[in-house]
Amino acid sequence: MSEDFILVNDVGTTGTRAIIYDRNAGVIAESYSELPQVFPKPGWTEQDPVGIYEKCVEVTREALKSAGVGPEQILAMGIATQRTTSMLWDRNTGEPVYNAITWQDTRMSDECERINRSLYFKSLHVIGGAFQGVASLSKSLKRNALGKMLITAAHFTITPAMSSAHARWLLDNVEGAAEKARAGDLLFGTVDTWLLWNYTGGKTHATDFSNVSATGMYDPFQMKWSTELMKPFKLPGDLVLPEIRETSGDFGTTDVFGHPIPIKCVVADQQAALFGEACFEVGSVKCTNGTGTFIDMNTGDEPVASVHKMTPMIAWKMRGETTYMLEGIISSAGSSIQFLRDNLKLIKEAAESESLALSTDDTGGVYVVPAFTGLSAPYWDPFARGTVIGLTRATTREQVVRATLESIAYQCKDVVAAMEKDTGIRVCDIKADGGASQNDFLLQFLADILDTDVERPEILEATALGAAYFAGIAAGIWEFPDDILRIRGVEREFKPDMPSETRGSLYAGWKKAVGRAQHWA
Ligand code: ADP
Repeated sequence: MSEDFILVNDVGTTGTRAIIYDRNAGVIAESYSELPQVFPKPGWTEQDPVGIYEKCVEVTREALKSAGVGPEQILAMGIATQRTTSMLWDRNTGEPVYNAITWQDTRMSDECERINRSLYFKSLHVIGGAFQGVASLSKSLKRNALGKMLITAAHFTITPAMSSAHARWLLDNVEGAAEKARAGDLLFGTVDTWLLWNYTGGKTHATDFSNVSATGMYDPFQMKWSTELMKPFKLPGDLVLPEIRETSGDFGTTDVFGHPIPIKCVVADQQAALFGEACFEVGSVKCTNGTGTFIDMNTGDEPVASVHKMTPMIAWKMRGETTYMLEGIISSAGSSIQFLRDNLKLIKEAAESESLALSTDDTGGVYVVPAFTGLSAPYWDPFARGTVIGLTRATTREQVVRATLESIAYQCKDVVAAMEKDTGIRVCDIKADGGASQNDFLLQFLADILDTDVERPEILEATALGAAYFAGIAAGIWEFPDDILRIRGVEREFKPDMPSETRGSLYAGWKKAVGRAQHWA
């Protein structure tokens, strides 16, 4: 058999998966393994970098074996990863100085709070805010890179999820780390960079534009490592930062599987899903409904400075061209269904939420605001808390379950409305993936409340698929975008079917409920 397959490693937080695709992007085999997390103290979330790499190798071997495919038949490999989880390692020994600190870790909260309150950041907010006011009168001011950076600065806050916060903690708290850095021996990387370095036997210390734009250390407007953003953490200091390469391109070769396999893609998870959902047009939107919901809009070859608290990022860089996106993160989505199952015991399994929701005509005026950890985009209120409101003696279990599913769609509407205001683009079609998108009720309600078509692809794991597409394009088996549009399968389309008055009054009720949940803790 000729070299005919694409291999992908899709490395999440809870687990890593290896998938083998054929030339039609059909899945030939896949293998999955959980990735252990370490919680040394409340709020600390770490992972063993060596363990992550070893599990990736293990699942890849298993996938190759169950596909009956040899490494010589793999045309290209792609790596999609969780974002911002970061680590430092010794370039001579390859040993990490400490565990990886994950994106969920909050150990640097106090330090971030201090920085956000510092004169430096307050001045940035004031200058950014003033510029935003002036720029609202002149479109040209909004268009140049510095202007966009200033508008973004008006809302920008440092968070403990940022890689820069992780790196600072490691340098300050791991014995010997600062000395090693001074000697130029300490390499910095996110999960993609670490895996690449190991897969290539230490030859490639690189990342891609999608991953670097999620670190909080990179300026997507001026396309450079950002001294302004790193300054509060006194970075990069002596740290060796990775080279940044195109998302679909050349990342070296791995010999780990007994025959050289070219690595042709490195990409961050949400950006990979945007590509996997074939959101190639400006204004196209994907909605990944997993534990949280991640909504991303392709904004084309220009980054958008958001005045509605969305996050501008690089989607990918390919063939010399950069594509940007706006992102809105909803922290509690599928997790609220888990809450119904595990905490309230209202359902036995997630899928049961669908039949229960469909068994009742409406929620009887009940709203659930799943602000378990506060509200993220577009509210950004860490003090909001989960709320169930509108209960009467007639309220049923089915109605509470339905209201919880509806809350996912309402939160999506909040984000999409903000993106529409930022870009002036009316969203007419959304591509939904992720585990919770199996739920027909949820996707129909999403179509109804947003008044847009919602499309569900045949393959819900859009992240891995996106990495496969990037790798296959770089390897020359697929032409962009024609072949991708040809081979991508749509399973079902949901059309809006709700009178606009109903939509308006339901959404007004949601906004009222959110108001009650805010500023609680
Ligand atoms: P992640 O990648 O974040 O781990 P997945 O894409 O695997 O998430 O989706 C898992 C989430 O989707 C869980 O939070 C689960 O509660 C939710 N989920 C799975 N199936 C359904 C369903 N049929 N209806 C509603 N939610 C579901």
